[in-house]
Amino acid sequence: MTELRLEGVSKRYGASGSGAADDEDDERTGERRTVALEGVDLTVRDGEFFTLVGPSGCGKTTTLRTIAGFEEPTTGVVTFDGESMAGVPPERRNIGVVFQSYALFPHMNVAENVAYGLQFQEPPAGTTSDERVSELLELVDLSGMGHRDPDQLSGGQQQRVALARALAPQPELLLLDEPMSALDARLRESLRLQLAQIQSELGITTVYVTHDQEEALAISDRLAVLNRGRVEQIGTPQQIYHEPATRFVADFVGDNNVFDGSVRHSSGDRIRVTVDGVTFELGSPVDRTADPIGPPTDRERDRVSFCVRPEALTRTADRNRFSVAVETCEFLGESVRVHGCWNEVPIVLRLSDVPDGEEVTVGFDPADARLLNATPSQT
Ligand code: ATP
Repeated sequence: MTELRLEGVSKRYGASGSGAADDEDDERTGERRTVALEGVDLTVRDGEFFTLVGPSGCGKTTTLRTIAGFEEPTTGVVTFDGESMAGVPPERRNIGVVFQSYALFPHMNVAENVAYGLQFQEPPAGTTSDERVSELLELVDLSGMGHRDPDQLSGGQQQRVALARALAPQPELLLLDEPMSALDARLRESLRLQLAQIQSELGITTVYVTHDQEEALAISDRLAVLNRGRVEQIGTPQQIYHEPATRFVADFVGDNNVFDGSVRHSSGDRIRVTVDGVTFELGSPVDRTADPIGPPTDRERDRVSFCVRPEALTRTADRNRFSVAVETCEFLGESVRVHGCWNEVPIVLRLSDVPDGEEVTVGFDPADARLLNATPSQT
C-alpha cells in the first residue's frame, strides 16, 4: 500500500499561446507559458479514495499525469511512501491507470484484454494467469463474459474490463481519470457504487479525477478542490460541503448563497455582518488555521463574505430573517428549488413546497453560516 505526496508541485507548459488566464511570460526566454499547476501540496493516505475535482482546465488531468509519471513537474516533488519519483518512468511506478476512453483492444476478447494487464508482471504466487483473470472478472462482476469481444459489451461493462485490466498486476496505486464521463447518469451512479465497493475491498490507494462535484462528494474519503492550477481546499465531503473555505469552493460545490458585507462587531464567538444595511449574526467560525491556505478571514478586516446553504434557509427559523423575491421554482420530487433574490443578492432555497406568494420570508441559524476566505487566485 502507498501514501502519495505532492510537495510544491508546479507545471508549466512552454510556448502555448493558449491565451489561458494563467499564461505567463518566461523571464528568461520571453515565451508565453501556460501555468497548469502552481504549488500543489497534497497527501493521499494509504488506502484512501481521494478525488481531484474542479472545473475544466483547472489542472486535474495534469496532476494525475504527474503522479503517473507521464509528465515531470517543473518544480516540486512527487513521493510514494516517502520515495521521490523524480525520473522514475510510469511502468516502474507500480500504478494502474483507467482513462475516460475505455481503450480496450478491439481484436482481443475480454479475458485477453484483462490478461494484457499481466504481461509485464507474473500473477500473484500460487495463481495462474487464467485464475487471476477469472478472479478479476468476478471482482468487477463480469464472470462468464471473458469470451466476449469488447463491442459486445455496454459502456459500463467495458469500463469495468478496463478497471480489471488496470488492477491485474496488483498495483500499489490506482489512478482514474474521469472513467465514467462517457456513461449516462444512471449507469454512472451504479458504477460509482461498484467502484467504491471494489476500492474498499482491495484497500488500494486511489486518486480519482472528475469535474462532477456531486460524484466527488458521493464517492470520496477526501477530496481536493482545484481552481486554476491551485488547491482551494482539501477535506472530507462533509467538510467541503458544510465548511467551504473559499468563495470558489462555496460556489462550485453544490448550490450556495454568498453574501458580501462588512463586519460590524466581532467579539467572542459571535460576528455581526452588515449587508445592504441589514445586520446578520453569524456563529463561531471554524478554526482553519491549520489549512494550507490559512485562516478563513481576518476578523479585523472590514469586508467579509459568508455563505449559507439553501437547505439552511428555512421559513421557520426565527433568526436572521429576510424576504426573498421569488423568480423561478424547479420541482425536484422530494423538494422544490426556488431561485430568487434579496437586494440584488441571488438566492437559492430548498423548500418542501412551492411558495404561494411572490415573496417568501426565510431565516437561518447563526451556526449555519460560514465565513469565507478570498480565493487564493484573488489574493
Ligand atoms: P478538463 O476537465 O477539461 O479535462 P483539467 O482540469 O483536467 O481539464 P488539464 O488538462 O490538467 O485540466 O489542463 C490544465 C491547463 O494546462 C489548461 O489550461 C490546459 O490548457 C493546459 N495544458 C494541459 N496540457 C497541456 C499541454 N500539453 N500543453 C500546453 N498546455 C497544456
